[in-house]
Amino acid sequence: MGPHRTARDSGIDHPPSLKEWTKMKRFKSYTVVALDEERFTFFLGDDVYILPEGQEAHNTPPERLWNAKIKEIRAKGFDSDDVWLQVIWYYSPTELSQRVSAFDPSFCGTNERIFSNQEDIVHALSCDGRTKVLKFDDSDPLQSPISAKSNYYRTTTNLSSSKSRHSGRQLVKPLSSSCICLQPYNPDRHIMHRCSGCERWYHISCIFEAHAPPEDIDWADNSGSMHDERSSGETSTRNEQTLPAFADIGDTDPKTVALALAKCPVTRGMEYGVVGTFSGISAARTMVQRVKSDPEYIFPEDWSALLEVNYFDFDLLVRESWYDCPNCHQPI
Ligand SMILES: [Zn+2]
Ligand SMILES: [Zn+2]
Repeated sequence: MGPHRTARDSGIDHPPSLKEWTKMKRFKSYTVVALDEERFTFFLGDDVYILPEGQEAHNTPPERLWNAKIKEIRAKGFDSDDVWLQVIWYYSPTELSQRVSAFDPSFCGTNERIFSNQEDIVHALSCDGRTKVLKFDDSDPLQSPISAKSNYYRTTTNLSSSKSRHSGRQLVKPLSSSCICLQPYNPDRHIMHRCSGCERWYHISCIFEAHAPPEDIDWADNSGSMHDERSSGETSTRNEQTLPAFADIGDTDPKTVALALAKCPVTRGMEYGVVGTFSGISAARTMVQRVKSDPEYIFPEDWSALLEVNYFDFDLLVRESWYDCPNCHQPI
């Protein structure tokens, strides 16, 4: 079987045959010295950018590069410049949908990748730098945030079957869905609220559908106040303090930030990031409890990192309303 993808420098030299490959020496890392003498060392397990065939280094935007994980590094000898990498590919949602017709990319974010089981041997010179494709674990709401620029994956694909075009349905692990609509979550398009009662996330559109706000609400009139009455009168609105200015959160005192954050509903998606605000809000609520039980409580030095405020739109979050859970009717 031929290569799954052809990387740029694989064309200069033929990749080693399986027989040659098994005879080559294995390494844990290799170092590239750039023209300006800067050294870049790559290790086993690193996620890297690979230049597709026909693309030039340095002027290819990251979205046109491939992502791969280095599985093995081999060369013919210790001094050899001829270093080859065995890589495992990540696919973009669009590229995967072209290969697996049953795969619907519409629920994937722009920075989302799908980790595959497909491997190729590519020349080390086709590697265009290190990246990190972070794991987004939908079952772990307390996981660390994923920044807006980072690539991430939450599902895997198994493309080894030769019938892949016809049996695509089983080849991609389905995206989980926790909402009443049973549809997955697109981090670029959906905002979801998390219910601490059901421990599930709900699309804001589904929350509205289940419990439509009254029609006579003046939507334009709730911008500057914490009394956001977007939802119906039955829905509790807990953010009752006047908003402080959070232009530079590092200069604001931690107690003010933690108190404001502790009162916010838990959200994810769009301005709230792929992973969302659960971990930061949980940290804020813990800090607020400590302050309540111990007036002498000293906030940790890294409080703003613990509250993860740099990963989502804080100003927007403190204005976010509480709604009724469409399933258990707790405030969410
Ligand atoms: Zn939904
Ligand atoms: Zn609920």
